[in-house]
Amino acid sequence: MTSLLELENSGEFIARHIGINAADETLMLDVIGSSSRRDLIDGIVPRAIARSTPMDLPAPVTEAAALAELRAIANKNQVFKSFIGQGYYGTHTPGVILRNILENPAWYTAYTPYQAEISQGRMEALINFQTMVCDLTGMPIANASMLDEATAAAEAMTLAKRSVKSKSHVFIVAGDCHPQTIEVIQTRAKPLGIEVKVSTALETLPQLMASGDFFGVLAQYPATNGAVHDLRPLVGVAHASGAAVCVAADLLALTLLVPPGEWDADIVIGTTQRFGVAMGNGGPHAAYMACRDAFKRSLPGRLVGVSVDAHGNPAYRLALQTREQHIRREKATSNICTAQVLPAVLASMYAVYHGPQGLTRIAQRVARFTAILARGLQQMGYTLTNEHAFDSITVKTDDASDLIATRARKASANLRFRLVNHLGISLDETTTRGDIEMLWSFFVKPGEPMPRLGELEDSVDSLIPAELRRNSAFLTHPVFNTHHSETGMLRYIRALSDKDLALDRSMIPLGSCTMKLNATSEMAPVTWPEFANIHPFSPPEQRLGYAELDVQLREWLCQATGYAGISLQPNAGSQGEYAGLLAIKAYFDDHGQGQRNVCLIPSSAHGTNPASAQMAGLKVVVTACDANGNVDMADLHAKCEEHSQDLAVVMITYPSTHGVFETQVKELCAMVHSHGGRVYVDGANMNALVGVAAPGEFGGDVSHLNLHKTFCIPHGGGGPGVGPVCVVEDLIPYLPGHATVGDTHHGIGAISAAPLGNASVLPISWMYCRMMGAEGLKHATEAAILAANYISTKLAPHYPTLYASANGHVAHECILDLRPIKDSCGVTAEDVAKRLADYGFHAPTLSFPVPGTLMVEPTESETLAELDRFIFAMVAIRDEIRQIESGAWPQDNNPLKHAPHTAASLMAAEWDRPYAREVGAFPLASLKQAKYWPPVGRVDNVFGDRNLFCSCVPVADYA
Ligand SMILES: *Cc1c(COP(=O)(O)O)cnc(C)c1O
Repeated sequence: MTSLLELENSGEFIARHIGINAADETLMLDVIGSSSRRDLIDGIVPRAIARSTPMDLPAPVTEAAALAELRAIANKNQVFKSFIGQGYYGTHTPGVILRNILENPAWYTAYTPYQAEISQGRMEALINFQTMVCDLTGMPIANASMLDEATAAAEAMTLAKRSVKSKSHVFIVAGDCHPQTIEVIQTRAKPLGIEVKVSTALETLPQLMASGDFFGVLAQYPATNGAVHDLRPLVGVAHASGAAVCVAADLLALTLLVPPGEWDADIVIGTTQRFGVAMGNGGPHAAYMACRDAFKRSLPGRLVGVSVDAHGNPAYRLALQTREQHIRREKATSNICTAQVLPAVLASMYAVYHGPQGLTRIAQRVARFTAILARGLQQMGYTLTNEHAFDSITVKTDDASDLIATRARKASANLRFRLVNHLGISLDETTTRGDIEMLWSFFVKPGEPMPRLGELEDSVDSLIPAELRRNSAFLTHPVFNTHHSETGMLRYIRALSDKDLALDRSMIPLGSCTMKLNATSEMAPVTWPEFANIHPFSPPEQRLGYAELDVQLREWLCQATGYAGISLQPNAGSQGEYAGLLAIKAYFDDHGQGQRNVCLIPSSAHGTNPASAQMAGLKVVVTACDANGNVDMADLHAKCEEHSQDLAVVMITYPSTHGVFETQVKELCAMVHSHGGRVYVDGANMNALVGVAAPGEFGGDVSHLNLHKTFCIPHGGGGPGVGPVCVVEDLIPYLPGHATVGDTHHGIGAISAAPLGNASVLPISWMYCRMMGAEGLKHATEAAILAANYISTKLAPHYPTLYASANGHVAHECILDLRPIKDSCGVTAEDVAKRLADYGFHAPTLSFPVPGTLMVEPTESETLAELDRFIFAMVAIRDEIRQIESGAWPQDNNPLKHAPHTAASLMAAEWDRPYAREVGAFPLASLKQAKYWPPVGRVDNVFGDRNLFCSCVPVADYA
């Protein structure tokens, strides 16, 4: 008889997560020619690296039980009303945006919009984001998001370095920037040989700039203490020295302040968090970066541009920087790959929802409240450090601090306490009249009267200096002035998501990107107030739930990877790489081997690898791959010998980017170690390893994981991500720290603005691990490998798999070689990718890591029926290609070259193509039941790059 415990907790989520059931598995194994899953895996995963012991994780529980357990953890966080500011503010996410974007898989499960034709909806939202940033900052061009304000400031520094005339190595930072911004800049500057000079109260910015020896200067507008400085005089001085002016600016404040673009600033950065995105203990939120036109080709991150499609209609696509690191490698402008698309979409929608008047009203209210608060405090005899303010003031409190703090705590309110003899108060969209009176009550001296709100309300003017009041219009485009009813907004959001293909419609078989299930139960906790409404710099005792989540998740990920220490601070894979490489360098510096600066990277590596190595100050040396796609051991050996004295690290991806388990990986690690170097194992392919093999066991010293790939955080259309950095024992002292929150562990310093990075999406990975357990996670890995081999086998007669191990098997993905087809009839991998859209599928990874190929990663979450549907489509497309090969259709006029087919093009009065309209629209009969219609035809990339335009399309262009 089944025990009650088994009945109650049968790990039933595992069968929801893994799409392949036992009967399907038997069928699939039969196709592959394996007798059992065990047999298949044993033949694929090299014996030498197989895990010695299973992962030690708690036994899996049901969705309901995991949610209850997480609820108990969440309840250990205390939700206080935050007046801390310092880059994180209270905000109201409009319900229509919360439910229909943040909680809607049509948005959050989408992939990065590399396939333009099936991504028009999210790219329109991102164009809105770019337009919003340009308008508010007054700058000509803005990208589609940065990771956070602090890293954006660091990227502004390097953008300035690349772009200006000055040959100086000095970057000047105003001391009244947010401390976390300064901290991250210092981390980033060090390996690049940039000297950061931070102005102090004694040494003001103009004094530091007087020497002229600097290539850039960063100031904050308004400053971290709330002061609104007139920064205009700095600009002339900087430009006269051939240096750039970078400004960290608050977008809400810019509705009222003269924007930096109007006083000739060069680069403007900041966060968009307060545009409707919860604080989330530090993330995820979209930061932004805007720059002058002359810098645009050097701008980091992704940029959405407007081009035209095959029919001459406007169409969006990623411009210039698309896959930038893959092309420019260590010369890339930045290592940013996954950014913050979903939070950027939320922020842009907030602007669409409120429009210019709404935003101005919110800002005016904040400014008025701030002025009233300030006046009241002055009436009570307090001195403020800043005479001018938008939303923040700093109050001199001297010995009154403790009493004020006690009263605030009693009222569940957080002020900014980490200031000597001062307190900071920041107001925001959520501030009420009651809040102002509450704040006064903390400060009132015994026996003295409270200020009267009613009196001050009418007599107080805002503290924004008259000469800095904004007069120019912004957000004038119709998109920001149309969708202001909730019905209108709902339909706009829906209309955009309808243009896109995400996981809620069909599988997204992207090699190297693991687009697996993002289960609803994993997603639900993200918006719980106990996770969402936490300020990252609130007192630690209010973040005990997060601390517990952090500890548990790190423990479990250590189990999964075989490493000894982990930090969850990096907010994308690229940032994990960067942190890991810095840790290795710091280790060598501490051990008298500071000369070790060579980083060997196989030619097949992901582009972020060389880009991160460059940022870490390492010298990239590329090593070859052999004919089977493996690391060329002879070449690696030779290069290790050659650089033996200077070898710092070898970066490999395992299983390889070519989708194969190389059998010699243990030897490779040993060889690198024998030369005194360390091994970095890029963990993006952990979906082929979890529970089966652990990089920390087979010789890796450092890895990053992509929780937004293997551990179920959704891709969000290109972010957020979490890229934990995992290290062996002797590197633990070099994991990132965070002095701004008083972290006593310093390590390599802060690499993200917030100590726990994109903290509020961590519950997703926690839920996944908790509901899967060790067995479930291992089963998922095996099912992913099974599915990839099934597809590879089934498609072999039509599209050969380029690389396989000796027994013909692949790991969790397979590279389909389409180059012979191009040779036979001119059909490219891109044509097949676009034709798949007509069949209702998102294309596999196109031309990475090998040009002219498609890399397919089905993941464990797809059902056999869906795998077969994809295979069926691919085979049908192969049959179409045969018609071109046979000459039945001309090479330049066939359904592949014209793909994808829009409804409009198929209904056109004229039809002179050699195939029926129906072949274009419904190549499979089943498509007549459920059809995805691409909204645009093939997008012209070249036109778009030649005529770069990155803002909302003028309405007339659609006429
Ligand atoms: C996705 C990926 C990365 C980069 O991760 P991001 O989160 O996009 O920065 C690095 N290496 C490999 C192999 C990847 O697939």
